[in-house]
Parts: sequence; structure tokens; C-alpha cells
Amino acid sequence: MTRFASRWSYRFKRPVKARVLSRQRLVGLLLALACAPIVSQQTSSSAATAFAMQSSSTVFAIIGDFGHSPQARRKYGEWAIDPTGDVARLVKSWEPEFIVTTGDNNYYCGEADLIDDNIGQYYHAFISPYLGKYGRGATENRFFPSMGNHDWYAGVGCQPGSSAAPYVSYFSLPGNGRYYHFVRGAVHIFVLSSDLDSEPDGVTESSIQAMWLQSALASSQSPWKLVVFHHPPYSSGIWDVESLAAAWMRWPFQAWGASAVVAGHAHSYERIMIAGFPYFVNGAGGHGTTAFDITPVAGTVVRYNNDLGAMRVIADQATIAFEFITRSGELIDFYKLPASP
Ligand SMILES: [Zn+2]
Repeated sequence: MTRFASRWSYRFKRPVKARVLSRQRLVGLLLALACAPIVSQQTSSSAATAFAMQSSSTVFAIIGDFGHSPQARRKYGEWAIDPTGDVARLVKSWEPEFIVTTGDNNYYCGEADLIDDNIGQYYHAFISPYLGKYGRGATENRFFPSMGNHDWYAGVGCQPGSSAAPYVSYFSLPGNGRYYHFVRGAVHIFVLSSDLDSEPDGVTESSIQAMWLQSALASSQSPWKLVVFHHPPYSSGIWDVESLAAAWMRWPFQAWGASAVVAGHAHSYERIMIAGFPYFVNGAGGHGTTAFDITPVAGTVVRYNNDLGAMRVIADQATIAFEFITRSGELIDFYKLPASP
């Protein structure tokens, strides 16, 4: 193992508390069913599938902390396993219209020599223009990443906040490429750049970036407005003993008109309800899983770190449904919002 592996590799293992967490998840689901009158929740996969069958729906995937190919693992002296490939097969089986990421697209150091192995190997058919070695790209870009801390490690010495040059040159994204927005069907997606060490337009709620978001949300005509970025405002996830939550990203998303926030960074899935507003953590897309604090963060309804997976989102003008599904096909969470009155 190199120093990179020991410093940054979140170990890929099944947590010893799996049974406890599973029971906790069940309790959380039951509590949610009892206490959340404005949302309907279902946990049966048949219900989710029936919902997906509506022809007017937009179906897309959200993946997080995924970009860790066997080539990258080998470079840093790890076993060349491919859980990123497992999640990619799951995601592609949904035939999503597009894919959004919650960051950490290119482990460990955001470097140019691995970015195509870590991303294009799995998702080239969604990227346009695609100039990598894994096959044909899309005719129109359908891959919308956000920047994780590891995507900024590309400078000398693999230091936080040093350079994102390989990421910037690999993708052709709307706006400035760091934060941007786009509309597909009934969904308006706002991708933010949340790295405290790196984002030149700031990451506080009064930053240039935040003012841009507030204005863009106010102008949106879409029924569903999702804000996606890397560092989670709320999370029960920990790395060693430190919380992986990012208090600087607690912007007034709900007051500004957003429908939900989806982040990553913690390598787990979690749904946290704050004043009736959903904050998802979805960072279990391939790198591995991280632990939870023994005490769940306030507002947690579902939390899960037994396995890797991705979110499938299904939206039409009247409703939007969020699922988290593991790479073996288990539905962990199903959460549906009605349109705003
Ligand atoms: Zn991260």
C-alpha cells in the first residue's frame, strides 16, 4: 500500500454493524411512514417499477464517489477489484436519459492518466464530445458531473485544492463548467462546486456562486429543482472520527425554491429531512463505503452503508420519485414528492 492508499482509501469492507444498521433503517422507514403526511413512501420494488413505466417520465441516475477503476487501484498498490463497474452496470440497466454525479469522479489524485479509466471506461456512451479510448461517445452530452475534493488534487504532490486541469479538459459542460444548470423534461438540475479549498467564486451562502444559484432558482419554470454537489450539508458519515458533513454548504436551498439537495463525499446513502426538506447523501457509487457515527444526525430517516449503489430518479410534471438501489438490485429507499401547489 502506498501513502496514497493509506491516507485516502476508504476501505472496501462490510461494516460489522450491518445488522444493527439494517434494523435501524427499518425503524427509520416506519417512523417516516408514520410522521410524514406530505409525502408518500413505498418500499416495494414492484411499486417503484410500476412508477417507472409511465411513458412521460424522465428517468435519470445520480452516482457519487465512483471514479475508482481497477487501473487506478493497481497504480496505488491495491487489489484491482471493480465495484465501480458493478454500479455502472446497474445504472446502465435503467437506460437513464442522463447521469448526474455528486463528485469524486477520478480517484485518488484527479490525474490525467487515469481519468478516462475512471470515468470513460464506464460512462463514455453518455459523454459528448468524448475523446477517450473506450468507444463512442454520445451525440449530445448526457453526463453531468460535479467536482469532488479529489477532482482538485491534480497539482504537484496530490494536494487538496491544487488543480482540476484534467477534469476541466475532459468535460465540456454548460456555464463555467464548475457550477452550471440545465433542464431535462420536468427537472431543472443545478450543479454546484462545493470545495472549500478550491472554488474561486466561493462556497458560502453569500458567495458569488450562491448568488448565482439564488437567481437561477428564482428564474426556473420547472416543477422540480434539484441542487447537486459534493460536500453534504448534513451527514451521519464519519472518516476516522471526523464528521463528513460540510456546514458551509447549509445555504437556504428550501427558501430559494429548491425541491431537494443531493450530495456525496460520505460513501454511504442517507436521507435527512430538515424542516420537511430532503437532503440526500449519495456517495456509494464505487469507491467503497465509509462508517456512520453511532448517533445518526438529526433528521435522518434512512441511512445505509452495507453496500454500494446509485440513485434512480423518475420525474414527470406532477411527481418526482427518488430511489436508492444497491448493485445487487435491492431497493433501500423510495421517496416521492408531489408537485408544489
Ligand atoms: Zn470527497
